[in-house]
Amino acid sequence: MNTTFKPHGKHLVAGEWIGTDNTFPSEPAHGDVFQFSVGTPELVDQAAQAAEDAFWTYGYTSRDERAVFLETIAEEIDARGDAITEIGTSETGLPDGRLQGERGRTVGQLRLFASHIRDGAYLDRRHDGALPDRQPLPRPDIRMMQRPIGPVAVFGASNFPLAFSTAGGDTASALAAGCPVIVKGHSAHPGTGEIVAEAVHAAIEKCGMPKGVFSFIQGGKRDVGQSLVQHPLIKAVGFTGSLGGGRALFDLCAQRPEPIPFFGELGSVNPMFFLPDALKARGAEIAAGWAGSLTMGAGQFCTNPGISVVIDGEDGDAFIEAATNALAPMGAQTMLTDGIAQAYRQGRDRIAGTAGVQELLTSTCDLRNATPYLFATTGKEWLENEVLGEEVFGPLGLIVKVADFDELLLLAKSLQGQLTCTVHMDAGDADAARKLLPVLERKAGRILANGFPTGVEVCDAMVHGGPYPASTNFGATSVGTMSIRRFLRPVSYQNIPEAVLPSDLG
Ligand code: NAP
Repeated sequence: MNTTFKPHGKHLVAGEWIGTDNTFPSEPAHGDVFQFSVGTPELVDQAAQAAEDAFWTYGYTSRDERAVFLETIAEEIDARGDAITEIGTSETGLPDGRLQGERGRTVGQLRLFASHIRDGAYLDRRHDGALPDRQPLPRPDIRMMQRPIGPVAVFGASNFPLAFSTAGGDTASALAAGCPVIVKGHSAHPGTGEIVAEAVHAAIEKCGMPKGVFSFIQGGKRDVGQSLVQHPLIKAVGFTGSLGGGRALFDLCAQRPEPIPFFGELGSVNPMFFLPDALKARGAEIAAGWAGSLTMGAGQFCTNPGISVVIDGEDGDAFIEAATNALAPMGAQTMLTDGIAQAYRQGRDRIAGTAGVQELLTSTCDLRNATPYLFATTGKEWLENEVLGEEVFGPLGLIVKVADFDELLLLAKSLQGQLTCTVHMDAGDADAARKLLPVLERKAGRILANGFPTGVEVCDAMVHGGPYPASTNFGATSVGTMSIRRFLRPVSYQNIPEAVLPSDLG
């Protein structure tokens, strides 16, 4: 099916759509191929200068003005809803329903941030009043509030072409904070990026915001992203993507003459731990649920639960049988890009080639179509082979049979940082769960009981992050209202006269 939206392939820099001589083609799963202009460091520089200029206005807009701007972006995205779904499904191979749901989440995030900043609690305003008679020294009047940090660079992920991309959570939270944004478009969905950038552009015009508040530059070559994170006017980076890409850009941020924070949300294997009573009572039921979660979106979720840890024995064997039976009939699904499908095959080969790993379910991955794989190993082998703890992006499951609960604890202690860890438990497992929880708290940003980690609620209490390598900054989240903190900086105002204080403090 060909798309009705025909991208022009240009970059949006400070309100102008600009093309360059070189182009790169899109790689759609189906439908038309379009040409996109290759970005350049010169365009990055123009966008950064415009963002810095815009900051002097945008950073000082009222909270209500910014809230209206966010709501207008949401309206403009909704107004292009069908065209966004059409180009999004063509480029990514994700089904219509998924794109529609993700659009709902994207506009929901924008509206949530609008109400969050109207409320004002995020400013964390504090006031220690003056104590002029205090001995031995008087205390000055000190107020504190969070201020926006300046221009922010955003890199979206291939697997969320809307909710973690051009106008996704990073862009929404940075704009809400008062920071201009420069988005590096993702090469896996350049047309989807362009149409969403058009929606943001339309909202800028409608709301009379400064043009440099949002720029969108397609890649095509790595020097665009690299020059963006190295640009001296950029004050922070929001990144969602792979460990390799994230680490390379994080290192560039750290090497700058003025290092800046790099908020990278990276990969995770999201282990699930089965405690004995739950495994006995509900093993088969959980296995069926796991098969659904593991294969959702062809397993291309950073929260995909890739590892199940069970205690060896009859109940563990029954779980393995049920999981194999549940996964076997799952059909092939289209992966996001040829490169991701190839990386999936390589990951599968890496697991299959590791000593002590047994293949339970052999499937296929031809070109961009993948079916699930299932492997099993022992706790001993897992503990001896670090490679088994590395993410395979796709519908691949590994069941680890530990000898007993002590080995389960040992395995949990050996984990790298995770976005999520899940415990399956019944009432009789509470003692074991109490021992496991302190270990998991040190490993993951979110701990779940009796559920599956795919599906991240956008709310006040959500943490989507975790110790490295789940993220590069364990104090932050990229989902939920707390994500605004990444783009704010506390400032104390000592003895500043009321007439001079920022209006939010007055
Ligand atoms: P990716 O390949 O790292 O790409 C992300 C972005 O970074 C793209 O714009 C890419 O540019 C750019 N990039 C990557 N390496 C770069 C480098 N060395 N220099 C400059 N720019 C670079 O990630 P992806 O394929 O989109 O996403 C898949 C991965 O993301 C999975 O591992 C998944 O688990 C993870 N993920 C994490 C989360 C989370 O919240 N933690 C959410 C979703 C996905 P190009 O466009 O030119 O490739």
